[in-house]
Amino acid sequence: MSYRIVLIPGDGIGPEVTSAARRVVDAAGLDIQWEEHLAGQTALEKLGTPLPEATLAAVRGANASLKGPTATPSGTGFRSVNVELRQKLQLYANYRPAKSLPGVPSRYENVDLIVVRENTEGLYSGLEHEVVPGVVESLRIVTETASERIARFAFETARRQGRKRVTCAHKANILKLSDGLFLRTCRRVAGEFSDIQFDDSIIDATAMKLVLNPHSFDVMVMENLFGDIISDLTAGLVGGLGLTPSANVGKGLAVFEAVHGTAPDIAGKGKANPTAVILSAVLMLRYLNEKAAADRIENAVREVFTRGEVRTGDLGGKATTVEFVESVLAAMH
Ligand code: NAD
Repeated sequence: MSYRIVLIPGDGIGPEVTSAARRVVDAAGLDIQWEEHLAGQTALEKLGTPLPEATLAAVRGANASLKGPTATPSGTGFRSVNVELRQKLQLYANYRPAKSLPGVPSRYENVDLIVVRENTEGLYSGLEHEVVPGVVESLRIVTETASERIARFAFETARRQGRKRVTCAHKANILKLSDGLFLRTCRRVAGEFSDIQFDDSIIDATAMKLVLNPHSFDVMVMENLFGDIISDLTAGLVGGLGLTPSANVGKGLAVFEAVHGTAPDIAGKGKANPTAVILSAVLMLRYLNEKAAADRIENAVREVFTRGEVRTGDLGGKATTVEFVESVLAAMH
């Protein structure tokens, strides 16, 4: 089968790590037509807008998209391209697995959990206003419709992957209306999945439990901001942001990207770890039902880490992005 894949290089280390991932995907021997489109600061500078209509149209028309990180100015400037993209294309589910890699130094071994983050509302609805000078308000939107579809995504993911339990992490003890609705909706959807256990955990205690015993979680589902923070925490549990992939999934559409950002401190130096984007490409191939190609790439990445000879700076090594990719390519049997 032939695929049309949109590649968004993004900003900072984005072009370095996405071109690395593209080389690895190409080596898997599938029939892929890559289409490059701009987004982020680079698009603003070249095309006058951070999220061009042509990029949105291309993502809508593609079989899937692979995206590099895009920069968002803090406290001023344009709205996050990621938030816009997720909202405009209704990429409502953010799937973020955290799985230990062999030989990677981290606090725990054999971590294997999934964070499912609601991707379209909560505080990321972007509804902020100044009530009077010196007082601002940000609206945290929670709807039953979005809560239900993300809960269903979490349970369907658990079932498809043979997982045993879904945990809803929330703050319904304090946010009785908004998180109360989210938790109640998750409970209701749980009733349709009698083969999967369900429990819930207050978000602050969840953070502590994850640090003390990450093995006590399986699939976790939560609203947007909690999922953003907790998935960086779970990335830290398995070796850091250079390693963790993600998928933004909607109805018939999906955009795959690393959890990490543009890493301005190392951009342009050829030092970035491309693993997170390569593993995001692996998630993309699984989404396209290209299991053999996905397994081949994932096994090659695991083999490189098991050997432990080639590592980028974030993992204490000296290898460049290109050297790491060359060793993954060499390990693809
Ligand atoms: P960041 O993830 O870019 O960097 C945090 C730290 O992790 C830095 O020290 C960086 O060097 C390191 N790091 C990240 N990825 C790495 C990799 N592949 N290899 C080695 N080290 C890596 O987070 P930040 O500094 O908070 O954000 C920088 C910019 O990225 C901001 O403009 C932010 O808005 C944007 N951002 C974009 C996305 C996205 O596009 N999905 C996600 C997060 C942040």
